Amino acid sequence: MKNSNLFLISAPSGTGKSSLINSVLDRAHKSKFPLELSISYTTRKPRVGETDSNHYFFISPEEFARKKESNFFIEHAEVHGNWYGTSIEFVQSKLDNGISLILEIDVQGYRQIKSLALAYESIFILPPSIGALEERIKNRGDNDLASINLRLENAKKELICASEYSNMIINDSFEDASDTLYQIITQEKAIIEPNDKELEQFLAKLLSS
Ligand code: 5GP
Repeated sequence: MKNSNLFLISAPSGTGKSSLINSVLDRAHKSKFPLELSISYTTRKPRVGETDSNHYFFISPEEFARKKESNFFIEHAEVHGNWYGTSIEFVQSKLDNGISLILEIDVQGYRQIKSLALAYESIFILPPSIGALEERIKNRGDNDLASINLRLENAKKELICASEYSNMIINDSFEDASDTLYQIITQEKAIIEPNDKELEQFLAKLLSS
């Protein structure tokens, strides 16, 4: 295998994960660092502005079930009432071609990959506060109330799992969070210790609010 790595990134809805990942992909592209985002398969309907094969491969629940049966996915999970999965072939072909890959997956998917004999780095992105998280989920504008509440409940459940990851980043200052993520991915900086005291204390405070 070439010198490529797998980065598993999780964060609750409304943490600003996608913007952070996009800024890091942009930076990597400019500095010719071979890094891409894995495109998942989902049964979710496309949102306004989302296109097939670009944001996701949008497929029917029947097709998803067929792919699942044929072991097409390296991991798959039901998230917020829809199915999501990562193609084994997609991941393998990128890594074999020397391209590092970001998998933006939920905690269930992360745990599945963790149980495989694979090398990876894991990163959990934390919101600066529960209030900020609520605000962002509500302001997304593309969800009904039931969906907002479901995402909020799931977000709180996911936060409890943050310490299962080897790195945690607080998305308080976007620039700082983006810098840290970029440094972890390009290994410009030593990886943050999993039990970094300040982060653990911050997480405990977040969970008690
Ligand atoms: P959204 O519907 O907002 O694009 O994504 C909802 C959630 O599904 C996010 O937490 C995202 O990380 C997760 N997700 C997206 N793709 C995958 C995937 O391939 N596998 C898993 N396990 N989760 C995914």
